[in-house]
Amino acid sequence: MSITLSELPYAIDALAPHISKETLEFHYGKHHQAYVTNLNNLIEGSPMAALSLEEIILKADGAIFNNAAQIWNHTFYWHSLSPSGGNNPHGAIAEAISRDFGSFGKFKEEFTKACATLFGSGWAFLTQNADGKLQIRQEPNAGCPLISKLNPVLTCDVWEHAYYIDYRNARPKYIDAFWNLVNWDFANKNLKP
Ligand code: MN
Repeated sequence: MSITLSELPYAIDALAPHISKETLEFHYGKHHQAYVTNLNNLIEGSPMAALSLEEIILKADGAIFNNAAQIWNHTFYWHSLSPSGGNNPHGAIAEAISRDFGSFGKFKEEFTKACATLFGSGWAFLTQNADGKLQIRQEPNAGCPLISKLNPVLTCDVWEHAYYIDYRNARPKYIDAFWNLVNWDFANKNLKP
């Protein structure tokens, strides 16, 4: 069983002008694809080849973990964005954000700060702990909240490859773009009662 690159949930140019077609051609078509190719090469002929991606993430370390977690994180990231996303949250996620952060404005401020201050490469995740409480986590490099038994709700990729084509070194401009695309329907789907 080999690991496959999951399909983008929208057309390659659908996130423009916030995230360009060229960025997705590289970020999805080259970077995400490379993690899939690398992982399949690393696990070929080993017992890991019989496992699901999630099982590999929980069992592996080193290069196998890094590539597997990057595959999972990127698929989760593509679904965290939507051409019809952005604006204010609605439904259960809106209520949970108000409950756990005070207001959407306060949450936006804290999540933006987590994205902006992560040193080097990594991810900002909105997660739920075992009690259902929302929390923001910075995951450096290929960090993945599944390892910490947290329920992932949303993510923003803050590796430079996510924004360098569109925004050069300006991570804050890319974070603004993220807010124009954030997929609250996906967050609602992930949220556990
Ligand atoms: Mn990435």
